[in-house]
Amino acid sequence: MGDPIQVQCCIAGGGPAGMMLGYLMARAGVKTLVLEKHGDFLRDFRGDTVHPSTLQAMVDLGLIDAFLQRPHSELHHIGVEIDGEVLQVVSFDHLPVDCRFVAFMPQWDFLNFLAEEGRKLPALSVRMRAEAQSLIEEGGRVVGLRGHGTGGAFEVRADLVVGADGRGSTLRDQSGLKVENLGAPIDVLWFRLSRDPRDEDQLLGRLNNGHFMITIERGDYWQCAYVIKKGGADTLRAAGIDAFRAKVAEAASFLTAKTSELESFDDLKLLTVTLDRLEHWSKPGLLFIGDAAHAMSPIGGVGINLAIQDAIAAANLLADPLARGAALTEHDLDAVQRRRLLATRLIQGFQALAQDRLFKPGVQEDHGQIDATPIKVVASIPLLGHLAARMIGLGVRLERVSSVKV
Ligand SMILES: Cc1cc2nc3c(=O)[nH]c(=O)nc-3n(C[C@H](O)[C@H](O)[C@H](O)COP(=O)(O)OP(=O)(O)OC[C@H]3O[C@@H](n4cnc5c(N)ncnc54)[C@H](O)[C@@H]3O)c2cc1C
Repeated sequence: MGDPIQVQCCIAGGGPAGMMLGYLMARAGVKTLVLEKHGDFLRDFRGDTVHPSTLQAMVDLGLIDAFLQRPHSELHHIGVEIDGEVLQVVSFDHLPVDCRFVAFMPQWDFLNFLAEEGRKLPALSVRMRAEAQSLIEEGGRVVGLRGHGTGGAFEVRADLVVGADGRGSTLRDQSGLKVENLGAPIDVLWFRLSRDPRDEDQLLGRLNNGHFMITIERGDYWQCAYVIKKGGADTLRAAGIDAFRAKVAEAASFLTAKTSELESFDDLKLLTVTLDRLEHWSKPGLLFIGDAAHAMSPIGGVGINLAIQDAIAAANLLADPLARGAALTEHDLDAVQRRRLLATRLIQGFQALAQDRLFKPGVQEDHGQIDATPIKVVASIPLLGHLAARMIGLGVRLERVSSVKV
């Protein structure tokens, strides 16, 4: 192993939380290293939503024009098809921000954009194929980490280590911090079906005949997410691919002809859903943000939003003292949790409620019986629609990028 790499801030994980924090720290002059274990951002599964709150951050950073030049589509309203009837449930038109829409962009493009802009900042370095493996603790304080990359084992020494390594966080396991599991009764099957150029609609949710599916437009294909009862994948597999094709056709009849593209269960990817939260997001020298601090369910498509809001809050609170070389106290690190906890609790509470209300467990073995009543209620009461738009688009507490900049 060579000499330790010395930085002010070392971030494990180049997802939305880690890349945004890396960018903001470096912008404030903090010498920052982001470690990402994969060689690129082209993971099969990445949420594709860039929310109005994140777009506002791009406006505040002066990046919005360049960002919106990247191929994307704009979702101004969320529609849901319930047993053949189309309901407009949420409209972002009234949000008090500059971009009143959700931008749909493959997340690898979003992360590549942040990485490219980040490269212009001398204080930022992003190492790909570099996996954080263990924490280095001295005198009751985290002072760095050990990892493994293309050049072999390495060691990083940092004033602050941030775990932004997602819901399977290695650093979280290492930290000994206590996790509260909030339970998730669902899993998701993820697959692609080709898209006909004439399929123009932006409808996202399809709740038909007790099946729930999300269809996300990705140019020449539909990225599909079929929701199943937790642990129901084996039952589905046992019933065979034809039975699954029939379920997809029931959920989204316009895709019936395309279901033959699913040749076997190898064409499906099982994404297990977790909803949990760390009791304490930090300990001396170490802070967790994003899914590593609070794993989010896909309900409402708000996890990326929350992860980025955590990053903005952390940078607003910690970049200035770090840049000045001040030693961060436990109280300083705890300030991030104090600022973000209520928003996180409320959104996770909403996700838990929606999961339990929409997907009644045990009704069917392989998928939950869907109760569409809550969605119908939201669609019929404008005030609830406004609240849902705010919650999805901005979260509970909108974080604005502070002006600290070198
Ligand atoms: C099925 C499903 C669908 C979802 N759909 C949406 C959606 O449409 N919209 C939405 O907003 N949210 C969605 N979410 C939630 C969203 O994916 C997460 O909340 C969000 O990605 C959290 O961002 P993050 O940066 O904290 O973590 P992640 O996005 O998980 O990023 C963590 C990064 O760390 C890297 N990493 C992991 N371990 C290490 C290590 N040891 N060393 C170095 N790097 C490491 C990973 O490769 C990854 O790049 C969904 C979740 C699920 C389960």
